[in-house]
Amino acid sequence: MDRDRFEDILSALRADGKRVTVAKRAVARVLVEQSDHLSAEEVTKAAQRYAADLSPSTVYRILEEMERLDLVVHAHVGHAATVYHLAGAVHGHLVCTNCGVTIEIPSRHFDALSADLLKSYDFRLDRHHVAIAGLCARCRES
Ligand SMILES: [Zn+2]
Ligand SMILES: [Zn+2]
Ligand SMILES: [Zn+2]
Repeated sequence: MDRDRFEDILSALRADGKRVTVAKRAVARVLVEQSDHLSAEEVTKAAQRYAADLSPSTVYRILEEMERLDLVVHAHVGHAATVYHLAGAVHGHLVCTNCGVTIEIPSRHFDALSADLLKSYDFRLDRHHVAIAGLCARCRES
């Protein structure tokens, strides 16, 4: 585990006057260990290894708290799925509407679209928040 990253999260919570509970340590640990896009349920399941009595609603509140502190971001990648990960470099997501696979793509793919939307509609694109839907190569072949 990236110990520095883990400690940074705990420090940020303390700096905001928040108590660092066993539950928060467990959630922070999971987010650092699994640098992936995880649903609140997946975070809960993984975090229960470190805090057995952790409930989904507690995890949800912790994720929201971390999000308010800009430690965590969320994105929507499927019909109902909301996924969370540590805040970091901005990126986009592609999601296959058939098999559900999510592909992380570099932010630069949105540069031209972003500039165009700003110019034409005075609209600022949020590159990360919602995934672009389509069909992956595997699903198109079959
Ligand atoms: Zn959202
Ligand atoms: Zn993401
Ligand atoms: Zn697919």
